[in-house]
Amino acid sequence: MSETIPKACVMGHPVAQSRSPLLHGHWLKTLGIAGAYELVDVSEADFPSFLRNLRPNGFVGGNITVPHKEAAFRAVDRRDEAASAIGAVNTVWYEDASLVGGNTDAYGFASHLDASIPRWHETARRAVVLGAGGAARAIVHALLSRGLQVAIVNRTLARAEALAAHVSGGPSAARASAHAPGALDALLASADLLVNATSLGMAGKDALDLDVSRLAPGAIVYDIVYVPLETALLRAARARGHRAVDGLGMLLHQAVPAFARWFGVTPAVTPALRAVIEADIRARTGAA
Ligand code: NAP
Repeated sequence: MSETIPKACVMGHPVAQSRSPLLHGHWLKTLGIAGAYELVDVSEADFPSFLRNLRPNGFVGGNITVPHKEAAFRAVDRRDEAASAIGAVNTVWYEDASLVGGNTDAYGFASHLDASIPRWHETARRAVVLGAGGAARAIVHALLSRGLQVAIVNRTLARAEALAAHVSGGPSAARASAHAPGALDALLASADLLVNATSLGMAGKDALDLDVSRLAPGAIVYDIVYVPLETALLRAARARGHRAVDGLGMLLHQAVPAFARWFGVTPAVTPALRAVIEADIRARTGAA
């Protein structure tokens, strides 16, 4: 029987750390869907052919994680609008015989913000995004799509410039700018939204050296790092009265459209789901 149930997977290398099986497994169980979600550790050399043979291998689709997101972008038959804009694919599914690649990180970022602070975008005009890596690409795309001006601040200025140039092909051209860390204090003073999209502040990494007193009083602070569950940035922001948005919600929300593609039901991000993932983070890392 098991070969007839819909099966999805997460493909990465390494992949054992992924929380996607727990997340999708929770939805399969609570929604009563006869399906499965597996971990597949696949090397860079083997990934393109594994992906091209996903359906013959028994999968209806899957997630792609480090280091395969760009390879997946190249290997799919076509991409959705977000994946095309971001340049990376984190979710694949079939439409008839075509393997389609999408990117749900921008959706996850914005949905969690919408759920946490309804109508935030009605007053937010200027965002500062720290970082210019894969996650920052998705976030910059999400914020430009919502009409904000986005200042990208990165340790390696050339990477921030490359990201700003990447999004400059379309109507968002004039709304993205690149800056070195030295410009941060001045940018913070007029920001409506600050997003940490670097790995700084994550357990085991360097601390994020940022003075929240430089922020405008009404600014929203969003940290996409979710280990620890409450980062030093979020704690400092809350202590000064800022509205703070955490990274775990982004992780949960980005999984929603993928599950809907594979299993035909749109799941909800619930407190119960959040509790399951929080417990796993605490158990595996001892993080508070
Ligand atoms: P990435 O592509 O490796 O980019 C890392 C970014 O952090 C770069 O901008 C890098 O700057 C910066 N950085 C790293 N170490 C630094 C340091 N010591 N000083 C200053 N800047 C530093 O990683 P990513 O995939 O974008 O992920 C970034 C973080 O977001 C990770 O912690 C990841 O776990 C988290 N994330 C969360 C979610 C979620 O759903 N909540 C989703 C995706 C990612 P340079 O360019 O100068 O190297």
